[in-house]
Amino acid sequence: MKENEKTINASGKTDIERIRHILSENNGSLMRTWLSICSRCGLCAESCFYYLAEKDPKLSPAYKLKATLGEMYRQKGNVDHEFLKHCYEILWFKCTMCKRCSLFCPFGIDIAAMMAVARNVCCSQGVTPNELLEFTENCRKSGNHMGLPPEEIVDVCQWLEEEIEDEIKGVTIPIDKPDVKYMYTINPREVVFYPNDILDAAVIFSIAEESWTIPSFGWDCTNLPMFAGERDAAAQAVKNVYNQAIKIGAEKILITECGHAYRSLAFEGPYMAGYPEGKPPVEVVHYVELIHEYLVNGIISVDPAKKFKEPVTYQDPCNVGRNGGFWKEPRKIMEYIAHDFRDMIPSGEYNHCCGGGGGIMPMGPNYKPGRMEAGKIKARQIKETGAKIVISPCHNCYDQISDLGEKYNLGIEVLSIKEALRKMLVIPEKFKPVSLSP
Ligand code: SF4
Ligand code: SF4
Repeated sequence: MKENEKTINASGKTDIERIRHILSENNGSLMRTWLSICSRCGLCAESCFYYLAEKDPKLSPAYKLKATLGEMYRQKGNVDHEFLKHCYEILWFKCTMCKRCSLFCPFGIDIAAMMAVARNVCCSQGVTPNELLEFTENCRKSGNHMGLPPEEIVDVCQWLEEEIEDEIKGVTIPIDKPDVKYMYTINPREVVFYPNDILDAAVIFSIAEESWTIPSFGWDCTNLPMFAGERDAAAQAVKNVYNQAIKIGAEKILITECGHAYRSLAFEGPYMAGYPEGKPPVEVVHYVELIHEYLVNGIISVDPAKKFKEPVTYQDPCNVGRNGGFWKEPRKIMEYIAHDFRDMIPSGEYNHCCGGGGGIMPMGPNYKPGRMEAGKIKARQIKETGAKIVISPCHNCYDQISDLGEKYNLGIEVLSIKEALRKMLVIPEKFKPVSLSP
C-alpha cells in the first residue's frame, strides 16, 4: 500500500449521476472546450515545478489534466473508484493548483481550475485526503479549522496584550469592536503555533493608529475545504467571514499573510457564497497591500540602521503574486527593509510555487518527502540568489521553505513581512514605556 492510500476516505460504488452533475454544473461546456482545444503542444510542461523536478512526461500539466478530468468527461462520468484513486495521486500530490502553467498555454487553458473540478468530483465520492476532511469537519462545527472555541482567541489576544505592555505602551488587540475600518482575519496556525504573528500585527496596527478588530467568530480566513474539493463547506467558510464583517459593520476584511485565504475570500469565495458578480460583499485587502500603503505614506517607518545587511530574497506566494496581483508592492516593501535584495529567477507572477500549496502543507509530515522532492526547484532558486533571509507573506510558503532550508542546507532564515518589520520598526516616543524613554 502506498503512503497516500492510507488516508483516502473511499469505499463502495461511485455515484455516476452525482459525478455527471458536478461535471456539467462547473462550467462544463468551457471545460470540454478547453479539453478539446489542448493541442498537446507541450509548452506548459517546463512551466510546472513537478515536471521540472523529475522530468517525467506524466507530470506535465496537459498529461495530468487529460489523465484526470479529461478522462472523467470522456467517460461521461462513468468512472470507478480505482480510477478516482489514480486521480487522487495526481490531483493532491502532483498539482498544487498554482496556475503557473496557464501563463504558458497559448490558449490560456486554466488547468488549475480544471484540477479543482476534478478534486470536487473525487471528494463527492469520498476520495479525498482524510487530513483535509478533518479540517473541514472542524470548520463546519466551530467556524475554524482547528476547532477552537471563541474563548481561545480571546484568551490568546489578552495574553499577548499583557506580554507586550512592558516593551511597547498602548498595544491593544480589540475583539469584536464594531464599525472599524479593518476586520483582521488570521490563519488558525497563528493562534496555536505562531501567536507572535498576532502580536507583530497588533504592534504595527497600534503604531499606525489603525481602526481594527479581530472578531471572536469569523476570524479564520483560511479555507481548506476549498482544497479538499468540498464546495459546501468551502462556501460556509467564506460566509463565516463575510457575514461577521457585515454584522460588526467593518469597512474592509483584512487578511493576514496567507496566500490561499486571499484567493478564497477575494476571488473564489464570492462565487462559492452565491455572489454572482464575483465581488465579495465587503472589500477584501491583503496584508501586503496595507503594509505597502503604510510604508509609502510614512504611516509607519523603518530605522535604516536596522535594515537587513545580509542578502534577502522574496518568495511570491502563488495566491498573492500570480493569482492575487501583488508582486510590485512586496518588492517596494523590500526596498524599505533590505540593503541587498536579490530577486529569484524567475520572479513575480512567473515565480515558482514553493511546493507546499494546494492544501498539502497542512496535511502533515506524511507528505514531507514528496514536498521536499517537488521543492527542489524552489530550493535551487533560493540558493542561486545567495540570500540568507527569505521573506514570504504566506504560512504555507514559510513552513515549506523552512523545511527546504533544512533539507537542502540552504543556510537561510525564513521570515514573514511582519516579523521582519518588527525587527526594525521605529517606535514613536509615545509608545515607549517610561523606563525606555530618554
Ligand atoms: S497548476 Fe501548477 S502544479 Fe498544477 S500543473 Fe499547473 S504548474 Fe503544475
Ligand atoms: S500549453 Fe496548453 S495547449 Fe499546449 S499542451 Fe499545455 S494545456 Fe495543452
